[in-house]
Amino acid sequence: MHPLNFVFGELARGCRQCLLGTKSVLFITGLCPLNCFYCPVSRERFGRDIMFINDRPVIRFPDDIIDELDRAGSNGLAISGGDPIVVVDRVVYLVKLLKESYGPSFHIHMYTHALNLNRDAVGKLASSGIDEVRIHAISPTQLSGKLELIRILRDAGIGVGLEVPALPRFENEILKVAETLIGNGLITFVNINELDVSPANIDNLTRMGYVPGPNGSVVGSLDVGLRLASEIRRRWPWVNVNVCTSRSKDIAQLGARLFRINIRSSRGNEVVLDDGTVEQQGSKGPVIKLRIGGREYTVEE
Ligand code: SF4
Repeated sequence: MHPLNFVFGELARGCRQCLLGTKSVLFITGLCPLNCFYCPVSRERFGRDIMFINDRPVIRFPDDIIDELDRAGSNGLAISGGDPIVVVDRVVYLVKLLKESYGPSFHIHMYTHALNLNRDAVGKLASSGIDEVRIHAISPTQLSGKLELIRILRDAGIGVGLEVPALPRFENEILKVAETLIGNGLITFVNINELDVSPANIDNLTRMGYVPGPNGSVVGSLDVGLRLASEIRRRWPWVNVNVCTSRSKDIAQLGARLFRINIRSSRGNEVVLDDGTVEQQGSKGPVIKLRIGGREYTVEE
């Protein structure tokens, strides 16, 4: 069995928090004007201006978000979508509110497609206090006219990285994207995600000749990710690269967050298992029992 993440250099702070389960995930809108053939966003969410935090619907904004961050004991937030930049005023409002409420060390990162960058939105983001912006692009033509905008984010002190799916047959294009961004000194890290097959993209992917594998990702995707990572590190050894597997999202990130939430909320007669689920015990007592790596620990409340 292969590792959950392949890290070349250092992990971006946003990724570290995800893996530790200390970061919540906000789906801030399903809106996005693009139509990437590999888009994994469910068709129930895509194109609709709806919000979910850790997959719980946000009805009262921003109160439901604050409640969930407190319940999960998070010290950071990942903002995804759709494309969050479509609702940039909402992003900016939230970043300022969370930094005021939890302090400047509360880490916030977001994802956006290069094609959706525009001067107005970038200007607002640059002064928002957001910590990290991950730019998505799978072809250098998608960066046309956008480098100046990405430079504004970098110059504002925001950590900027490239985030791409490990797309078989797009290896050379993705490498050229990395080359353009690194050559212009615009990014410090690259995040490569194993390409997940979802009900939203399976038809497109199979029509294009991609093959769904037994682990829920596209066959050959992980190999592409690892080849890209090695090549990027060989050419630009100062750039940090992380290859994030599908299993990492399911097991490490979701499980770690669930584990943390249940540790915080479990009662004395409950055992929180490695995968984050809770098991009831027969007797009540003033202790929390943890089972980690096959060993059981007893912690007094
Ligand atoms: S930019 Fe992201 S949300 Fe928009 S279509 Fe592409 S993959 Fe989907």
